[in-house]
Parts: sequence; C-alpha cells; structure tokens
Amino acid sequence: MRYVSTRGDAPILDFQAVTLAGLASDGGLYLPEAWPTLSREQIAGLQGLSYVDTAVEVMAPFVEGTLNRQELRDLCMQAYGRFSHAAVTPLVQLDGQHWLLELFHGPTLAFKDVALQFLGLLFERFLSGTDKHLTVVGATSGDTGSAAIDALAGRTGVDVFMLHPKGRVSDVQRRQMTTVLAPNIYNIAIDGSFDDAQALVKAMFNSPDFSGRFNLSAVNSINWARLMAQVVYYFYAAVRLGAPERPVAFSVPTGNFGDVFAGYVAAKMGLPIAKLIVATNVNDILHRALSEGDYSQGTVVPTPSPSMDIQVSSNFERLLFDLGGRDGVALSDQMRGFGSTKAMRLTNAQRAGSEPLFSSDRIDLDDMALAMRWASEDAGQVIDPHTAIALAAARRADVGDVPIVTLATAHPAKFRDAVERSTGARPALPKRIGDLFDREERYDSLPGTFEAVTAYIAERAVPREAG
Ligand SMILES: *Cc1c(COP(=O)(O)O)cnc(C)c1O
Repeated sequence: MRYVSTRGDAPILDFQAVTLAGLASDGGLYLPEAWPTLSREQIAGLQGLSYVDTAVEVMAPFVEGTLNRQELRDLCMQAYGRFSHAAVTPLVQLDGQHWLLELFHGPTLAFKDVALQFLGLLFERFLSGTDKHLTVVGATSGDTGSAAIDALAGRTGVDVFMLHPKGRVSDVQRRQMTTVLAPNIYNIAIDGSFDDAQALVKAMFNSPDFSGRFNLSAVNSINWARLMAQVVYYFYAAVRLGAPERPVAFSVPTGNFGDVFAGYVAAKMGLPIAKLIVATNVNDILHRALSEGDYSQGTVVPTPSPSMDIQVSSNFERLLFDLGGRDGVALSDQMRGFGSTKAMRLTNAQRAGSEPLFSSDRIDLDDMALAMRWASEDAGQVIDPHTAIALAAARRADVGDVPIVTLATAHPAKFRDAVERSTGARPALPKRIGDLFDREERYDSLPGTFEAVTAYIAERAVPREAG
C-alpha cells in the first residue's frame, strides 16, 4: 500500500514511513493511494471474530508490504491485551434503537488508547534495529497526552515532549500524564490555552531550523496509523448489529474529525453505514461546514467536553481532498486561503459528496445535560459529557429504522465534576487507576513562547546527527 499527501507535493511513502513521519513535508496529511474494499462475503465473515481477529482483517490491506498478517496479529494481541474488557470495545444497548460503543476500556479511560496503544508498538517495532531516534512533540487538551504517554513510556528510541495548558485539564487527565516518571517522558505545563500549545507544536514542525535538528514525529490524529486503528471498531460494532445485511448509523462526538473520518474510511471499504452523525458542542465549525458549506473559524468557547473544544479540525482536510476528486493542487489553494482568511466555502463537489453519508448537529449545554440524565435514568448508563453530545445528536437524528451506535469516547470518571453537575452522582474511579491520587507528580512549567519551549526540548532531545 502506498500513501499520498492531500497537498500533492510530498513523496509517496509506504506504511512504515508514513507512520514515522506523521505530517507530510508539504504540510498535507497522508492517505492511502486507493481505498481497499472488503466484499459482502468478507464482511459477513467477520461475524463472531474476536476484536483482534477483526482488526487483522480490516487493517491488513493498509499495512501490506510492511507487516505480514502474523506480525500484525501479534501487535494487536499485545495492544488490545491491555484493555480491561474481554470484548475490547463492547456494545451496550440503551433502548430499541440506541446503542453505546464503549471505547474507554484502555489504560487511560478514553478512546485515544485504541489507536495509541497500537501506535506505540508500531513505533517501537519500526525503530528497533535502527539507530534512528524519534522526538515526539505533542499538544494535548488531556486525552491524547495521557494515552500517548502510557503507550510510549519506557520505550527505547523515543522521547515524548507533551505540552498541556496549565490549569486547564481535569485533575484525572493531568495526573495520568504527570505521574508517569519514565525518563523518556517530559511533561510541560505552558501558560496559555490548548490552542496556544497546539500553535507552538505546529511552529516547531514548520521551523526548518528546529525540525532539521531532530526527527520530529506526531502522535495526534494527523498520524494515519491512528485513524487506521479506529476503522476497526466500526466494522466490529456493525457486524454485531447485523451488517452487511442490515445498515447501521453511527453518532460520533467530534473535535479534530479523526474518529468520524475513520467511519468514512469504513464506509469507503464497503461497510453499509446508513449515516455518520457528526456531533459537535457549541464549537460548531464542522456543523456549519457540513450543513451550510461554511468552514470558518470562531473563537474557542471552553465547555465540559474539552476534547471537542476545537475551531480548526485538522482531519477535515482529508475528507475535502477525497470528496474533491483528490486534486492536491486545488486543495492546497483552498487550504492556503483558509490559512490566511480563517474562512472558506466548501465546493459544490465537496458538499454534494458529503451529503449522502454525513449529517451533523450542534449540541448546547442543556441538551448535553438532558442526554446524560436520560442515559442514567432511563437506560441505567452513566455517560461522560463527550458521549452525551453524540447521544443527544443521535436521539434527534432522522435516520429511519436502523440501529444507531453512539461512540462512547471517555469513561465518565475522567470528567467526574461535569457528570456530577448533570446527574447528581459522582462516578467512582475504576480500580485500574486506583492509586492515581497518591502517586508523585513531575512536570516543568514554562512560559508559552517558542523560545522557551524549543530551548527546553533542544537541551533534552537526541539530535538527528547522533542518530
Ligand atoms: C479526542 C476526543 C474526541 C474527539 O475526537 P476527534 O477524533 O478529535 O474528532 C471526543 N471525545 C473524547 C473523549 C476525546 O478524547
């Protein structure tokens, strides 16, 4: 399998190179050159398979030429063996039409673990036996940071520099990062917002001087391997609800458009998906883009669903590229325009292409709280604020008589305060992170400036010359 950049001007890479690179050198994002497909018979053949065996069937075409099926299976066994539920991503029924797909049974209690546990193993495998050293630089509003740190702590050949906005992540999220004391993990609390942290990271990748000195790599969802690992659970859930005979709809709490793009990939591969419901909170750039063609950046409003408090959705570029006929030159122009004016219109082709599969909705605080209460009082399920946004959208979507699966992206204990405010009950921390509040924390605080952060990293990272 070969991978091309959305901006059409970066080298074509294989799976291994695309995984290590993260971002394309032309500023674009990598995608498979063509979508592989599974036939109806192959999809029917997934019925009854374990999560790991499903993962092998779904991911094998994407890693062809880099990993054989046995190698892929070994990596999946290791990655998903760390999940606390035997089904890895179990389905829970809410009523006659609605289901939750619980994606939070990994070590850090959010769906980011599904992809990052696997990505960590890929990094380790691709670096072993080489003298290459990766410097992972990331910004987090909480969940990506903790999942990446758990996946990469103590691994050889990788250092992780994770920036989080000081005082703006939940106490559980912060401790999941700062109590990991492995020598290759550096937590940096910066003064400023998540957007400031993300802008610093982008500036580092875009600085020829800084990025020339280190093998920088990305762990956020601009990395293709992360999206690929997320395609698996769409298949896993849909065949359990009757695919390929019966189509299924999914409602996805969306921020960076990574998770829902994985659903689009599943549809492209042949999974009969009736609708992908893109659920946003009041930071609704994606809802405006899909319903009106207006992709224009507003100011970020902090909400109880911080992982969706985003006004620029990186992975949306992948959809625009695919729907716009895969024209890298035209897309570069479109993205450059957005870069300078912070606004753009979708083309007719992009709008027409998105319509059959996608719908969208914007959920405010009241509707989020109502969905949380409905789940707890009527269906006996305590859900987190991100999941509640998607459930609210699912319950008012018009998709006809098909099962609707709401992706449950975080364990309610990760957002205890918000859950308690809406439902009156405070979720207990699961046993597996029991002593989190007794562990020693370690992190450094820095001003949110390019100079301060790059000086800190340059002092500690392994330079490219040294391998
Ligand atoms: C990251 C995250 C999201 C948003 O996912 P995207 O792939 O960025 O759209 C939703 N919910 C939770 C809990 C998350 O951590």
